[in-house]
Amino acid sequence: MHIRQDFFTRKKEELGVTLNKVQLQAVRQTEGPLLLLASPGSGKTTTLIMRIGYLIEEKGTAPNRIKAITFSRASANDMKERFKRFFPYLPPVDFSTIHSLAFELVRTYFRQTHTSYRLIEGHADMQFHKKTILRNLYKSITGEKITDDQLEELVTYISYIKNKMIPVEKWPAVATDVPKAEQIFKQYEEFKQNGTGQLLLDFDDMLTIANDILEKDSGLLLQYQQRYDYVLTDESQDTSMVQHAIIEKLVHVHQNLCVVADDDQSIYSWRGAEPAYLLDFKKKYPDAHILFMEQNYRSSQEIVAAANQFIKRNKHRYDKNMFTENPAAEPVKLIHLPDYQYQVKYLAQTIGEFENYQDTAILYRNNASSVLLINEFDRAGIPFYIKDADNRFFSHWVVQDMLNFMRMTYTDKRPDIFEQIHSKINGYVTKKQMEVLKRIRNNQSVFDNLLKHVPLQDYQIKPLREAKETLQQMRGMPPLEAIRVIRGRLGYEKALEKMCERFGFRKEYLIGILNTLEEIADTLETMEEFAARLKHLQHVLKTAKQKKGQNAVTFSTFHSSKGLEFENVYMIDLVEGIIPSEDDKDDEPLMEESARLFYVGMTRAKKHLELISYDKRDGKKTAVSRFVKAVKRIIHPDKEKKQSSPEVKRVGHGSGIAKTPYNPNAIQDISELLAGKIVKHRVFGKGKIVRVNGDTLEIKLKSRTVKLSLVTCLERGLLEDAGDE
Ligand code: ATP
Ligand code: MG
Repeated sequence: MHIRQDFFTRKKEELGVTLNKVQLQAVRQTEGPLLLLASPGSGKTTTLIMRIGYLIEEKGTAPNRIKAITFSRASANDMKERFKRFFPYLPPVDFSTIHSLAFELVRTYFRQTHTSYRLIEGHADMQFHKKTILRNLYKSITGEKITDDQLEELVTYISYIKNKMIPVEKWPAVATDVPKAEQIFKQYEEFKQNGTGQLLLDFDDMLTIANDILEKDSGLLLQYQQRYDYVLTDESQDTSMVQHAIIEKLVHVHQNLCVVADDDQSIYSWRGAEPAYLLDFKKKYPDAHILFMEQNYRSSQEIVAAANQFIKRNKHRYDKNMFTENPAAEPVKLIHLPDYQYQVKYLAQTIGEFENYQDTAILYRNNASSVLLINEFDRAGIPFYIKDADNRFFSHWVVQDMLNFMRMTYTDKRPDIFEQIHSKINGYVTKKQMEVLKRIRNNQSVFDNLLKHVPLQDYQIKPLREAKETLQQMRGMPPLEAIRVIRGRLGYEKALEKMCERFGFRKEYLIGILNTLEEIADTLETMEEFAARLKHLQHVLKTAKQKKGQNAVTFSTFHSSKGLEFENVYMIDLVEGIIPSEDDKDDEPLMEESARLFYVGMTRAKKHLELISYDKRDGKKTAVSRFVKAVKRIIHPDKEKKQSSPEVKRVGHGSGIAKTPYNPNAIQDISELLAGKIVKHRVFGKGKIVRVNGDTLEIKLKSRTVKLSLVTCLERGLLEDAGDE
């Protein structure tokens, strides 16, 4: 006779997962409102998935009566996959984003009311794209061109107001650096309503309109309320007010709502997320059960201890005490490199040695960090997956400018190419002069034409003559050298500075692009190769999106890494100015959010976590992130007390070793440590570097080979240049 096993016993046998007491309670408590407030890695998502399985298998609920709502499409997919792994024999459940639910509602409503509409985000027509509309409005209202940064900020401003459902009269109180933002926003709304024959909709509109529809159309409200018997939301700390409002209406009758959240992982408040809503959960749902989970199943002792202590720096939070029964693995590693450039090399060398790649992630705050990673990993032949690949770098006008300058070295007879850079080269040719130049069609050098046929100011003559000559001299130059000449001798960087003053561009960002281009150009011989390399990288970036689930290293922003886990996590660019950013420093709520972001990154790691910082970037000194210093204080409390200065200095390995005296002759630059070099080690004496692999330096001595930590050698000044053999 077949005896049907208990659901939980069965799952234990099939999956090896034994739910703990609270998890069990959360799964069994299927009726009524439930808030599950828990630490990272405590099994929130796992519990949610089990609960869905339980509803279907044990309670006989039809899968299509269950709605699981996630914050992003990526996490919807992640949940779908996990569900399939847990319950391969069950039909699929509806995991989707709140946006897709809202859109469905909006579509239904507009069909009923015969309203014609058009989407202006996602796969929208460029002509009617949200960003195009905002660009145009900005131009017409301020008379200036909007910068990419300002556009991003404007989009965030609008999203924020809509998601928080802030009424018009309170808009002036919403802070933004974008001039005339409020006026632009009002005209934007007006344009969407009446600017064309159709109603235009952006993603935020779907939410606000869906919410309005549920408020006004009792028929549709009822229809949707009757459609699902159970609603579950993951990562609810990132749910916004208007999203909460929609969900509230949806579950109003049966109140079978399960909300899973961690306030310490709230990282979208800039976009209107409302974690404080969870504090009032009992007020909204007086019958609610609230459960807490603090046991982490994901990470090692060391990682859990460090992360738990770290997040206590924040004042605005539920105090929790995350703990784990997982075994100890290894200390959290703090890697400090002499220069930013070494970072990607270090990563490629270290990770390149791994047997498989899918257990490893490199996490960063800004998408811009990914360009050099892509370059280096592509060169090293290490496959990688990028979730939110961002093509903006390659299409950025600074990149296009460099290519146009390079084209000018082949021919200076093309006014169309010159037009792209005419105001960014020494001798600054004005728009008017450019118009005159374009009318001359004799296929001669643009410089000759300018000098002969276009009225110029006296001071323009010399620099334009020189520019012509310089460009000629540049023919055949290696691209790195060419970029340097463009930046310096041809006056591009000076022009950028002026533009920054005039248009409010962020100078560090633009200079960063130039420096990145130099890195890409570094090993290339010709400008053609450089142009081809950029094209290639752009293509690689595109295909990197499709490498999910393959044997590939994951590159991700901290934001997009939420909910995921990896055996090995490398958090990079951990310096002041990036995390926390300059803006974060002046504002405590922003600072706390920045710390939460850091915390999300740390808690992705199961066993191996490295925090990477550096001393210098683009020739300028950088300071180690205060968050790294905080972690350092947590893992080496004694060391901290003894040190006179709180500064983290080249942290790394061998923390127990006595401090070695300062050696002025020591090799300090990591780039000097190449295979083949003869060095003198303070203890081991003379030897030859045979291999550099990640942090491991292999030195062949007279009678044996030693493996040393590269960072320690640099940090302690253990190696000197020993000249030739
Ligand atoms: P995050 O806050 O990062 O989203 P989470 O709370 O959703 O984390 P999960 O991703 O569900 O956590 O679980 C983290 C890890 O712990 C997963 O690998 C999961 O399989 C494992 N896990 C969860 N609960 C248990 C348990 N009771 N026994 C063993 N492993 C568990
Ligand atoms: Mg989760």
